[in-house]
Amino acid sequence: MEPRETIREYAGDGIVVTWEPGRCRHATECVRGLPAVFDRDARPWIDPSRASADEIVAVVDRCPSFALGYRTDDGRVRTAPAE
Ligand code: SF4
Repeated sequence: MEPRETIREYAGDGIVVTWEPGRCRHATECVRGLPAVFDRDARPWIDPSRASADEIVAVVDRCPSFALGYRTDDGRVRTAPAE
């Protein structure tokens, strides 16, 4: 089996945002949707503490490549579909 691509995790209040760099298509949906959270000039570039879990879920759901995902404390999960 192929090794899994690296997935990075960024913890916020009630949510963990995941990001798989190899899938990112730089469509900037995330940056346009929540610039306070997704800031390419910041390190780390994702700071989930700057918005509510619901706001982050709404924007991550627009990521077309599934580079972004999440797990919320209330059980919502977004992961990339199996290939
Ligand atoms: S929306 Fe997804 S594919 Fe686009 S820049 Fe953000 S993480 Fe990358």
